[in-house]
Amino acid sequence: MKFVDFGLCNEILSSINDIGYTKPTEIQKKAIPGILMGRDILGCAQTGTGKTGSFIIPLIEILNCGISKSRMPRSLILAPTRELAIQIAEEFNKVNKYLKLQMVLLIGGVPFTEQDSQLSKGVDMVVATPGRLLDHIERGKVLTKYIKFLVIDEADRMLDMGFIPDIIKINKLLPKIRQTLFFSATLSHGIRNIGKDLLINPKEITIDNYSSISGNIDSIFIQSKNKNKMNDLRTILHIETINNAIIFCNKKSDVNKLNNYLKANNFKTVSLHGNLSQSLRLESLKKFKNRSAEILIASDVAARGIDIEGLTHVFNFDVPNNPEDYVHRIGRTGRAGNKGKAYTIFNKNDEKNIFLIEKLIKKKVNKITIDNYIISNKLSNQKLSNLNNDNNKIKHKNKIKLDLLPVENYLNFKESGKIPNFLNTK
Ligand code: AMP
Repeated sequence: MKFVDFGLCNEILSSINDIGYTKPTEIQKKAIPGILMGRDILGCAQTGTGKTGSFIIPLIEILNCGISKSRMPRSLILAPTRELAIQIAEEFNKVNKYLKLQMVLLIGGVPFTEQDSQLSKGVDMVVATPGRLLDHIERGKVLTKYIKFLVIDEADRMLDMGFIPDIIKINKLLPKIRQTLFFSATLSHGIRNIGKDLLINPKEITIDNYSSISGNIDSIFIQSKNKNKMNDLRTILHIETINNAIIFCNKKSDVNKLNNYLKANNFKTVSLHGNLSQSLRLESLKKFKNRSAEILIASDVAARGIDIEGLTHVFNFDVPNNPEDYVHRIGRTGRAGNKGKAYTIFNKNDEKNIFLIEKLIKKKVNKITIDNYIISNKLSNQKLSNLNNDNNKIKHKNKIKLDLLPVENYLNFKESGKIPNFLNTK
């Protein structure tokens, strides 16, 4: 099947061609015809499946037949995080390239003025996080009675983040006769119940089981001795050939600590978590996307839905408390047919959470101790000494050598049979 088979207008086909999508993804094949026919959709799909395109492309096709009026948007897309909302808005801009539809992004952390002025000029689509949309509605800046299309993206995350009361509030303000598209990475009983109140006779679409992990991801759990966690992570970062990586932490305070620690060790890092101002969050993402930073250190909430092209590595500084977050985190790599590596650092106290992950993915995870990881990595000696010569990366090279001395010497001894020099010196 090709995009042309959906009967899309030439402008959209040209923009899709410019983006470089050659054929529709599974979810696009299943969702686009239903949406164009006016059906409600209950979609179970993760990010990375082409889910955003599956609703943006047909919505643009439908909206193209009408005109926008001041403060009366015709469609509304709700996303749980600012970052996801930004990505949806970016997809809209790409597909809308040869058309003149107007869209406004209503997210918190940025001034109201620009958003107000766009709304007053008239928009066809609002992409919003629930809190900021309600702020605008309460201030009388958005009239909801002309909204004919509602999209709820990542409903399961909305539930986790406590946004469902806001969604219910917003739903009550919308016309009953409308088309609703409801997407979630999981379809639990709770999520289905929320969907029931919003959808009418939906077409149900399920893409890829959430518990399945792409075969392109090589995932390893590395056992650390807790007090050496940062040091162990730094060792792994030196051994691996990293193009770009995301490191996930369970706590925002650890995001900051790790960012400072790796920066002090001359890694080019940026951070992303919910306590940072919107401008800092955007700056971090920009630097990471344009490759001026090679490592993004993030919390789950902030990193939800982020799509970085060709990400080579994901590191879990902690085992996530929620097993689904593990699948979601490591799914940032190994996308679009590329290979990816995922490393999860754990210690003895993490057994319960590892068990929950194994239950979800229905298989045992690969575990190795940090010492065995270094030993089994035959190139580590050579790589580490190369890295030690690289002044741009390693400021305290002597310190790093010292940290790794026991294993390094064990390796030398094992391979050469010679007693290492330092044991002969008094
Ligand atoms: P999403 O599931 O919306 O997060 O999309 C994940 C990635 O898939 C994004 O980088 C999109 O640019 C890409 N994508 C979406 N549709 C297609 C397509 N038809 N062909 C190739 N890549 C796509």
